[in-house]
Amino acid sequence: MQAAEIIAASGARLEYVTPERQIAPDIGGTNLTPYMRELLPLDVTFTLCRRALHASPEGDRIRVTLGSDYGDFTRERLVDQLVVEHGTLPLDEVYFALKPLSSNLGEVDYDALIDGRSQAIERNADGKFKLFRIGDAVASRNIHAAIYDALRLVKDL
Ligand SMILES: Cc1cc2nc3c(=O)[nH]c(=O)nc-3n(C[C@H](O)[C@H](O)[C@H](O)COP(=O)(O)OP(=O)(O)OC[C@H]3O[C@@H](n4cnc5c(N)ncnc54)[C@H](O)[C@@H]3O)c2cc1C
Repeated sequence: MQAAEIIAASGARLEYVTPERQIAPDIGGTNLTPYMRELLPLDVTFTLCRRALHASPEGDRIRVTLGSDYGDFTRERLVDQLVVEHGTLPLDEVYFALKPLSSNLGEVDYDALIDGRSQAIERNADGKFKLFRIGDAVASRNIHAAIYDALRLVKDL
């Protein structure tokens, strides 16, 4: 949404395309309001339920094929720029640096986790501590996920 805001504010004509059935579903209503206040007066087009399938150069422009998860039909767009939001990667360097030093080699017993039992995996006799990867170190998620991961792992310590 920040990229959309910057692009639209630059004077470019912007079509925001998403395979989702709503705009920016991970953004709560409170945070969506300022984005809409910015984007709507700039005549941004919102195209829902469409997924960018293919892009190829055509002269100095880009031909983009849009498909949909709801059918086999496609539509073409000839655009100057294609900006793809491709998700994020976690900051996991610390986890991987600590992994060989830990007693469980960073492993989670998921059956125990789901059953609410404590973690008992031992993989490295020289390990001095247990290591668990939680929250956004796994994937960009939310506060609920980070707290729930932590709660299930440390409640028996
Ligand atoms: C702009 C934005 C808005 C968001 N809004 C919401 C929202 O409204 N609701 C919601 O539920 N979630 C929201 N989130 C997601 C939420 O912030 C994260 O999912 C959550 O903070 C993850 O918690 P965490 O403890 O795993 O990681 P973090 O909160 O990122 O905590 C990791 C901590 O580790 C520290 N750290 C990193 N490396 C090192 C190191 N080498 N040594 C020491 N410390 C280190 C960092 O400085 C940081 O303090 C938002 C995220 C962003 C970016």
